[in-house]
Amino acid sequence: MKILVFDIGGTEIKYALCDENFNLTDKKSVPTNAYEGGKRLIERVVEIAGTYSGIDRIGISTAGQVDSEKGMIVFATDSIPGYTGVQIKQIVEAEIGVPCAVENDVNSAALGEAYFGAAKGEDNFLCLTYGTGIGGAIFLEGKLFKGNGCSAGEFGHFVTHAGGKSCTCGGCGCYEAYASSGALVRAVKAKTGRDLNGREIFAEFDNPEIRTVIDEWIDEIVVGLKGLVYIFNPSLIVAGGGIMNEKYITDEINVRLAAELMPSFRCAKVVKAQAGNDANLLGAAYLAAKQ
Ligand SMILES: [Zn+2]
Repeated sequence: MKILVFDIGGTEIKYALCDENFNLTDKKSVPTNAYEGGKRLIERVVEIAGTYSGIDRIGISTAGQVDSEKGMIVFATDSIPGYTGVQIKQIVEAEIGVPCAVENDVNSAALGEAYFGAAKGEDNFLCLTYGTGIGGAIFLEGKLFKGNGCSAGEFGHFVTHAGGKSCTCGGCGCYEAYASSGALVRAVKAKTGRDLNGREIFAEFDNPEIRTVIDEWIDEIVVGLKGLVYIFNPSLIVAGGGIMNEKYITDEINVRLAAELMPSFRCAKVVKAQAGNDANLLGAAYLAAKQ
């Protein structure tokens, strides 16, 4: 089986071919040109797909809230104007003539981890991606839990500080305002006056001032995870985002989380995502293959 898979992000569309053993080959990318709008974006996906021959399926991982049954965008922010309501599956199937599966990017990554990565064989796990904000996906009893409006798992806007810092969602005190890698960058700036990115912050791990900020930030990560463990009782939490390549973070999270939890909940381990940059593509390929 030859599956063409896409990962549509705010800045880049990545795509690759995938075989029945889920090996990705011929990886490419083009700029998203989000300013051209959601309709044009899907036209470009169709144009790319049209350059391939002998494709059996198409799998698409995309930013935005996705109704994967209908293969449409339920809601997308203005980062891709006019994307809300675009019937991706219908358009692609009509133009290319092969079955198409569409899923949200964080959910695709969770599927990638479930079948090919850190969560292989796990029936109940959570995925959290720590970047500018915090994305999440919930995998329960062997499948994705999507919620009523296909938008469950927005862990970034789960309130951990009543009346706290204001957030991009319009609320305040949200988890991502304290525990995202963006929040770490802001906290370092507030403490030292320096603009450092995640990698630069960890390069100065031995600087006591920076180390204090890192440790306080890890406490913020743990506060949110503690709540999630009590709600979902997962066996595993997969932590993604480039910052999680720093082993100190996941090691500390595990120690501090276990110390905070009641003994019967301490089986929840936190591990780094493994499927990495390919997780979204592999998750979309899995869904496409299943169609
Ligand atoms: Zn928020």
